[in-house]
Amino acid sequence: MNNQENLSSLNRAAISKQLSDKEYDILVIGGGITGAGIALDAATRGLTVALIEKQDFAAGTSSRSTKLIHGGLRYLKQFEIALVREVGLERDIVFHNAPHLVIPEKMLLPIVKKGSLSPFTASIGLYVYDWLAGVVRAERRKMLSVDETLKTEPLLDKQKVIGGAMYTEYRSDDARLVIETIKKAVEHGAVCLNYVEAKKLLYSSEGKTTGAEATDLNSGQTFQLKAKKVINAAGPWVDEIRELDKSRKGKRLHLTKGIHIVVDHARLPIHHSMYFDVEDGRMIFAIPRGETTYIGTTDTNYQGNKENPSVTKADVEYVIAAANAVFPTAKLTAADVQSTWSGLRPLIHEDGKDPSELSRKDEIFISPSGLISIAGGKLTGYRQMARKSVDVVLKQLKEEESKSFVPCKTEKITLSGGGFTNRKEIFRYIESCTGEAKQIGGTPKEVADLVWKYGTNTTEIIEKAYELHEANRAAGTAQPENLLWQAEVWYAINKELALNLGDFLIRRTGMLYFERPKIAPRLNFYTQQFAIMLNWDAVEQKHQADYFDVEYKAVLNFTEEAE
Ligand SMILES: Cc1cc2nc3c(=O)[nH]c(=O)nc-3n(C[C@H](O)[C@H](O)[C@H](O)COP(=O)(O)OP(=O)(O)OC[C@H]3O[C@@H](n4cnc5c(N)ncnc54)[C@H](O)[C@@H]3O)c2cc1C
Repeated sequence: MNNQENLSSLNRAAISKQLSDKEYDILVIGGGITGAGIALDAATRGLTVALIEKQDFAAGTSSRSTKLIHGGLRYLKQFEIALVREVGLERDIVFHNAPHLVIPEKMLLPIVKKGSLSPFTASIGLYVYDWLAGVVRAERRKMLSVDETLKTEPLLDKQKVIGGAMYTEYRSDDARLVIETIKKAVEHGAVCLNYVEAKKLLYSSEGKTTGAEATDLNSGQTFQLKAKKVINAAGPWVDEIRELDKSRKGKRLHLTKGIHIVVDHARLPIHHSMYFDVEDGRMIFAIPRGETTYIGTTDTNYQGNKENPSVTKADVEYVIAAANAVFPTAKLTAADVQSTWSGLRPLIHEDGKDPSELSRKDEIFISPSGLISIAGGKLTGYRQMARKSVDVVLKQLKEEESKSFVPCKTEKITLSGGGFTNRKEIFRYIESCTGEAKQIGGTPKEVADLVWKYGTNTTEIIEKAYELHEANRAAGTAQPENLLWQAEVWYAINKELALNLGDFLIRRTGMLYFERPKIAPRLNFYTQQFAIMLNWDAVEQKHQADYFDVEYKAVLNFTEEAE
């Protein structure tokens, strides 16, 4: 099988066999951004890598963030200077490696009476931030007068605004960033499979970790996965894996929950992303995206179910009240909420600190058995977290096997779909794809949306749509409602290991969050396509549709109690 075939859900049995057939240099447990980054880093440094993910790739925290590749302004407030510098520089690298997924956008910081910043402190703070984070000239801060601020965002409260500042943040799609990283890692030889859970760790007679016993949750098969080194990149589950290793001692994780709400853009028609004060001293974002605006986040201690952290009524009320305080004419209510998501920050516990005060720094723990656990950190810093983890492995292998130390290469490795040298090229590519897709009924908007998700891989989707068109014509069957929708499902299943409707509608396309109203009219079509491509019988089709229905409704099911 070639590496590309290792991304097809139709080849799961063969991929599982590869996982159990040989000893790998590294086994990575967890397919969020941290694990995906490690798999890519290690594979490009010549190591053999296996990665297993018990849910879908990115189904943990890495599809539930604010979706910003930060410059780290927030950390300046906590005087985490080194962190501001690291994430600022990192942001630029991630932007160059995945320009179709990382989009620089102006962010307005309104300065209000009794707010956390005055025009003076905002100006100084942003100046230091630009300098520390190495912000390019065109993106440096610009201070605005009251009039300029209100002209920029007329929805702001005229009674409260005393100025504003514009700076640049980079909007992204966290889940797609993970998937494009996994795809690139697989291209470089890593073997990665979703819905495979590490149940037990394996040990040598000297008590050193030698792999894991894993279960493919789709087929029910259990197998042993052997590796010289095991990296625990399980995000909020890091301590559970340390527990399996009986090494959960000393430092521990501290999970805090953050939720976001999504409203129709017409209900909060802001022109720019905004970062604004909340009464309790925190700051939150409002970010326009497509036909929606999303707002968040919260930061509260959490001890409940990790797979599906709930959104409580109080969470929603908090975010709505914060937005209404800044945009008083919007008068948002819970009825405006179209979708939500809730994620858990896998932070490192520090005695006596509140959730928002906990450092976002990452840290590596090495247990007596050799298990390497990496926790904390941010989406933005994933490449550095990966580098540090693989450096540890390579240093150990150098000592143990005289393997040569190969430096990290990912700074220059474009993620799958990211092969553009500048933004103009992206727009030229959209234009050329639009021309091609016109003949099979693709609209310019549909094509542009595909390019901002799949980058240069959009060509494969359009080619597949043509192939389907030709096949239907040759067979004399009617063309379906939309060939691009069909081709996109095909791509998700055959090129991105999607296995069910949620994988497609949540993490491959983001539709459940940002285009939920479009799901109901298309759901039957998508379900049938999955059934045909994955050979679901009627019972399986019903089971899958019911399962997705739970996910579809959960985003608007706000619970009473905090967990
Ligand atoms: C509300 C919120 C907003 C955020 N906003 C931002 C932001 O805007 N920018 C930013 O840079 N960062 C942000 N972050 C932080 C960022 O999202 C996280 O740091 C990052 O996603 C963590 O990734 P991870 O891979 O470590 O964890 P995860 O994404 O949770 O991945 C760990 C994976 O391990 C899997 N796993 C667990 N146990 C097993 C097992 N036994 N076998 C196999 N697999 C297993 C899980 O299923 C999971 O998918 C935010 C976080 C939150 C919660």
